[in-house]
Amino acid sequence: MHAAPFAFHAARDLKDALEVLDMSPGAAVLAGGLSLIPELRSRRRRAALLVDINNVPGLDGVTALAGRPGGPRPVLRIGCAARQADVLAVAARHPGHALLAAALRTMGTALVRQRGTLAGAVAQAAPELQMSALCSVLDIRVTVRRAADTHDRAARELFAEAGPGPGELVTAVEVPGCRSGEGWAFLRAGRRTFGAHLGGVAVRLDLRPDGRCRGARIAPFVAGHDGAALAEAGASLCSGPVDAPAVRRAADLAARTVRTRSDALASADYRRHLVRVLVRRALVQAVDRTRGPSGEVVS
Ligand SMILES: Cc1cc2nc3c(=O)[nH]c(=O)nc-3n(C[C@H](O)[C@H](O)[C@H](O)COP(=O)(O)OP(=O)(O)OC[C@H]3O[C@@H](n4cnc5c(N)ncnc54)[C@H](O)[C@@H]3O)c2cc1C
Repeated sequence: MHAAPFAFHAARDLKDALEVLDMSPGAAVLAGGLSLIPELRSRRRRAALLVDINNVPGLDGVTALAGRPGGPRPVLRIGCAARQADVLAVAARHPGHALLAAALRTMGTALVRQRGTLAGAVAQAAPELQMSALCSVLDIRVTVRRAADTHDRAARELFAEAGPGPGELVTAVEVPGCRSGEGWAFLRAGRRTFGAHLGGVAVRLDLRPDGRCRGARIAPFVAGHDGAALAEAGASLCSGPVDAPAVRRAADLAARTVRTRSDALASADYRRHLVRVLVRRALVQAVDRTRGPSGEVVS
């Protein structure tokens, strides 16, 4: 099938992109096009105009802002035209961004990551894909610009609103990493190269030196769930030591509170069971990552 006819505008600079988006309520931003073009071609989506941001100067930077030991978390500031492969290359060099790097490695293939932008993966606001869970666990923020104003907001809000509104351009994504000593894990089940997956989970865990939990974020990405962190499961870890029974309790709570649905790949019950197994494994990995080489908790 061919896409319905649309006009095309290659933005020269940011001002041009924002003005054209402002004047054309039916316009869509074209970044890597990996999601947008198939949607247009299958006519699941229509756009009167595509505003191509690929030639806009200054939007493809990836900057690492350092955190201090025990202090604020390190941050990656990512321009909206930066490709996932470029973000992965930077994240892989910074231990504080290991969770982001692990998540990116599960997104499509190397070829997909060379074309797809990180901002596009956030802006597509797909609740069942990796970025939705990552936004919850890492508190990712976006800079959203319109012709008239600029505002900073939690990326999770875009998922609740099915993406940026008319006239809006996500110009940058800010991804906080993990502090030294925080534990993390990212697990995904399913066939990798075709994009289809059964589900997965992202976890971030902050333990005190005595092994007790200061805070835990557990966010599954699975059909039926919106990618939000499971508050009850996370809070259950903060009532005592994070040992094997606590991990099992949290995994059971996660399976009980996650919303799942059936589709051609798996039943809702299977996905609920998968969440239990993945959360348990992820928490074990995350606890291990909080320990130094001698087994003590790193603070
Ligand atoms: C084989 C294959 C496997 C894949 N596997 C995965 C996977 O496992 N996980 C996953 O998350 N994705 C996967 N994808 C999808 C791909 O990673 C996303 O399509 C891509 O990340 C979206 O980025 P893009 O730059 O291509 O965005 P586009 O397709 O250009 O845009 C996506 C949407 O976001 C909007 N948009 C884009 N940039 C902005 C912006 N700056 N401001 C406002 N709106 C914007 C567009 O208008 C459109 O609605 C896969 C794709 C393929 C082809």
